[in-house]
Amino acid sequence: MIKINVLQLERQELDIAGTESAALLEIEDTELMQAKGKVSYQLHASLVNRGVLVAGSVKTVIHCVCGRCVKEFDQTVENSSICRYYEEVTEPELDITEDIREEMLISIPINYLCSESCKGLCPHCGIDLNKKKCKCHEEKTGSDAWTALDDLKL
Ligand SMILES: [Zn+2]
Ligand SMILES: [Zn+2]
Repeated sequence: MIKINVLQLERQELDIAGTESAALLEIEDTELMQAKGKVSYQLHASLVNRGVLVAGSVKTVIHCVCGRCVKEFDQTVENSSICRYYEEVTEPELDITEDIREEMLISIPINYLCSESCKGLCPHCGIDLNKKKCKCHEEKTGSDAWTALDDLKL
């Protein structure tokens, strides 16, 4: 649970930092993605016009599979632009767990790439093109020639 002590906040601004287990995210593990790392957050809370303003960042590590070459790797995901405002807070404690979960989830992409320049697997022979070259490429050039012919007909 991530909570803000509002009574304390009335006296001074608060820095709240800590970690939660990955269970906080309630992400179902799939073959393509598992949230196993801790979720760590660093927040700053202040009183603004009787409301509570919370700003800061949250991050975690996702174990995932590259969408192109199926290599497994760990990816740090961070949302450093959290900014939430709670109007007219009356409770002595403000539970922001749900919102922090949401802020983390919106930063987790659906697809991961081990690198922007990942060449992926050859669609014909399945070889990892980051490691090896295959001969399918030559055949592909052949079919390109046919498309060029098709274009000529038009
Ligand atoms: Zn890759
Ligand atoms: Zn190939």
